[in-house]
Amino acid sequence: MSVPVYNFSTCTRCRQLVGSCAGCTEGAFFDADGSVLLPLVYGHESIAGNMPMSSLPSVGCRECNAAFGYLHHVGCRAEVCPKCGGLIVECGCSLKWRPQIKA
Ligand SMILES: [Zn+2]
Ligand SMILES: [Zn+2]
Ligand SMILES: [Zn+2]
Repeated sequence: MSVPVYNFSTCTRCRQLVGSCAGCTEGAFFDADGSVLLPLVYGHESIAGNMPMSSLPSVGCRECNAAFGYLHHVGCRAEVCPKCGGLIVECGCSLKWRPQIKA
């Protein structure tokens, strides 16, 4: 069986059960220098060329079940860092999350 294993815990960002919703709540990352970085949605990896376009995902993120074009949940091991392009769980950018961007 190769059924995706989701981390069925409550996301600390959107308070929804990870794996049960289309994706995380909107917001932005703030870098230590104050600059704003928009989070990268699920599917960005394909758009960026890491994956052939023919393999665009038709199913949710294998880690957090976010739908194509939606945000990953906190702690998703597939989320890409908008600053360095690496995996957020592995990079050392330590970006801070804000739930909403104030206009
Ligand atoms: Zn979430
Ligand atoms: Zn994800
Ligand atoms: Zn990073």
